[in-house]
Amino acid sequence: MPTYRTKGIVIKYSDLRETDRIFTVFTANMGKVRAVAKGVRKTLSKLGGHLDLFNVVQIELAIGRNLDTIIGVQNVTHFPNIRSNLDKTSQVYYLTELIDQLVPDEYKDTRIFDLLVSTLKILDSDICPSEVETSLVAQTFKMKLLQLLGFAPQLNQCVKCSQAAQPTGDYFFDNRLGGIKCRSCQSGGKQNISLSPATLKILRALAREDFLYVSQIAIDSKTLAMTEEVLDNCIKFIIEKEPRSLRFIAKVKGLAK
Ligand SMILES: [Zn+2]
Repeated sequence: MPTYRTKGIVIKYSDLRETDRIFTVFTANMGKVRAVAKGVRKTLSKLGGHLDLFNVVQIELAIGRNLDTIIGVQNVTHFPNIRSNLDKTSQVYYLTELIDQLVPDEYKDTRIFDLLVSTLKILDSDICPSEVETSLVAQTFKMKLLQLLGFAPQLNQCVKCSQAAQPTGDYFFDNRLGGIKCRSCQSGGKQNISLSPATLKILRALAREDFLYVSQIAIDSKTLAMTEEVLDNCIKFIIEKEPRSLRFIAKVKGLAK
């Protein structure tokens, strides 16, 4: 049986038959790989412990007719500090779910893989001791994922009248148009979130700066909650509007060229 090796992050699994499991591994060079690991739920399984969620693994697979089979796992990177912290674990669950839902199956982009690995490393390090830094890193991941998939929100000018955003101005976030709207262009759009100047400033920092910078930002809980709300609504809109639609895949593919 022909085999191959690839490096990836375990992002999902589900049980299959009595002792098997189907894993989704987000790989650096093949996109999402779905494969079965046989007997992995037996206590003495050699593969079992290595295929925990969020581990970075080097896997060996045998090509199958429908599903490939994981036959070996090497060079495992664990993230013990994420695993022992419920807040970090739940954030990482959500981020890997976003990869699963937003990245089309056959889509390959090593930058997205690197983004996820950097996020896991930062969250596992002592740069993120509290929930605030953890959330700031998670929000940065969301923003950068949107950018890499071609859904970068417009934060520098009004999406309707194109007037450059003023640091102290009143703005609203419009999911449908994918960016900020000034007060004079905002009419009747009840679903648009009103942004405080501080939130707009944070959103722009997430779009522009690296994890280290962002994790050190001083932020109050209201601004952080509003930042999370804007990004989560933006993502929800994209997932619901274009669930695995051909248009979405075409757009992402076009970007990769
Ligand atoms: Zn405007």
